[in-house]
Amino acid sequence: MKVLKFGGSSVASAESIKKAISIIAATQGKVAVVVSAFGGITDMLLACANQAASKDKNYQLVLSEIKERHLDTLQLLNLGNTQASIVGQVKQALDALETLLEGAFLLGELSPRTADRIASYGELLSAKIISQAVKNSGQDAKFKDSRNLITTNQHHQKAIVNFAKTNKKIQSFFKQNKNRVCVLPGFIAASETGDTTTLGRGGSDYTAAIIAAAAQAIELQIWTDVSGMFTANPKIVKQAKPIKQISYQEAMELSHFGAKVIYPPTIQPVLKKEIPIQIKNTFAPTDSGTRIITNSKENKNPIKGISHINKIALLTLQGAGMVGIPGFSKRLFEVLYQKNINIIMI
Ligand code: ASP
Repeated sequence: MKVLKFGGSSVASAESIKKAISIIAATQGKVAVVVSAFGGITDMLLACANQAASKDKNYQLVLSEIKERHLDTLQLLNLGNTQASIVGQVKQALDALETLLEGAFLLGELSPRTADRIASYGELLSAKIISQAVKNSGQDAKFKDSRNLITTNQHHQKAIVNFAKTNKKIQSFFKQNKNRVCVLPGFIAASETGDTTTLGRGGSDYTAAIIAAAAQAIELQIWTDVSGMFTANPKIVKQAKPIKQISYQEAMELSHFGAKVIYPPTIQPVLKKEIPIQIKNTFAPTDSGTRIITNSKENKNPIKGISHINKIALLTLQGAGMVGIPGFSKRLFEVLYQKNINIIMI
């Protein structure tokens, strides 16, 4: 089995969804397809939820936009005789979303638990629509809700995966699943008590990696809108080139320190099983992209790429007065913590 993950920009419109569907059709053997919400929808859902919780009636405008995006995309996909049934399902989900937002508006509050339920609609809607579209293209496909496979703790908005339970569920599901294509929503999971949780912003990559590792996939493909990891950010450095091959370690460092192509926790689950990650461009599928493997000896140059992070401050605390006196670093880190400042490197 292969796991193919399509990010928000790869499923942002009917046009791009059709490109994703032909990529799925061209893939041999069984595939698990993990999808993000339509590009920009998660931001809109969370903005809308915050607006509702601060009693701003304009949340309804954002909600209308969210509804329109999904219904318009469906219309453009034109799913023939299944159109009415899928439109019905999508409308039902949008109504449930509306009820949650009304609740946040009436209460004037948004708990992380409710925020997760609201955010989950992005991936749920996208996976439902895409699975139907894949089916309509003549492929043997089905939808599977990732919440029934991925179990986490209650740490809403960045939940921690219970791998013992999750791996078992994924393995038994894929063992008995007969359909060639299975479409799953990324980003969302469920706690032991059945509450919807999410895996952190950008977490659909992580969903795909969790499934690939548990199901012993032969490859994890991340389909995005660039042709792989680059030697530098191509928007800033004109001479930047795609990196053909890179090790897990190097990819992890580049993504942790600013290369946005892959969500950093993604690599961990597949690294242990040595499952290769192929980063590909949905809009230029013949470009070779980047292959992430255990040991990359492709390039003799020890520097594979240069990444950068904006808005970073470098703090130096020095002085003879600190020598032999305990507690200085504690005070420095304490004050940064109080101001909610994240330290990325010590
Ligand atoms: N839709 C989620 C986000 O925008 C997860 C993802 O796309 O990876 O953060």
